[in-house]
Amino acid sequence: MYVGLDIGGTKFQVASANEKGEIIRRVRAETPLQLKAGLDLLHEMIEQVSDKEKINSIGVAIGGPLNWRSGIVSPLHQPEWRNVPLKEILESTYHCPCRIEVDTDAAALAEGAFGLDTATDKSAEISRLLYITLSTGMGGGFLVDGAIYRGFNGSHPEVAHQAILFRCDHPERILCECGNNDCLEALVSGNGIRRIYGKPASELSETEWEQVAYNVGQGLRNLAVIYVPERIVLGGGVALGGGEALVNQVQEFLNSTCRLTPAPTVQLSRLGYDTALRGAIVLARKVSSVEN
Ligand SMILES: [Zn+2]
Repeated sequence: MYVGLDIGGTKFQVASANEKGEIIRRVRAETPLQLKAGLDLLHEMIEQVSDKEKINSIGVAIGGPLNWRSGIVSPLHQPEWRNVPLKEILESTYHCPCRIEVDTDAAALAEGAFGLDTATDKSAEISRLLYITLSTGMGGGFLVDGAIYRGFNGSHPEVAHQAILFRCDHPERILCECGNNDCLEALVSGNGIRRIYGKPASELSETEWEQVAYNVGQGLRNLAVIYVPERIVLGGGVALGGGEALVNQVQEFLNSTCRLTPAPTVQLSRLGYDTALRGAIVLARKVSSVEN
């Protein structure tokens, strides 16, 4: 039995799965504020899904920053969690190996393993897959031949904090939570949209959505010409809310602007809100391959 943990700033999801990655049992709960309450709750949830069976390995998807080798985590949106040796805690409690990755990297692994359309993609693996989440914040994960792309010293690339050429009715309202005033995230994330348009993404007008799609397109164009992914998968509440209309606008933008590199195919996530949880299960299954 494999166990996957999706530790988010608003909710925890824990699931057990078989060797094929199929979910056996799953539970979810609101994220407690305090660290101790959070760890106690995770133990309880692991007991529930494992139902006293032996756990083979544990995979964890959690917000960054973190050190994937040591498994020490300091998720930005859980302020009480700082320098928590989560890998060590889980390994010593459950006597099994554990692997921890940034949630968007885990999500990219899930999209590569479970999210593709088996009718059209067959077994042909997508060798360059970029996963982008547009939700409260924005982030991404890039797979190269099935492995997570990492920066210097194992750092996770922050694709949302690139400056872009943008369209915005209220440029004076653009302010990124990282401190810059020209980040892509500040223009197209749920929080950014609220700050700029004074309402949630679900209430944007068609013209406002066009601005968001244009800005997403500019950001993805930059990534597309530098990394040349074959497929871009969009997940997260804002992207899923924008739906096919958003995907089509972004696709058209990429088709008309990627002139020297092939334009990637853009699709919505087929895993919905389960990408990080499914990714945690992939991590549990990959736990023995320590190199990447
Ligand atoms: Zn930023």
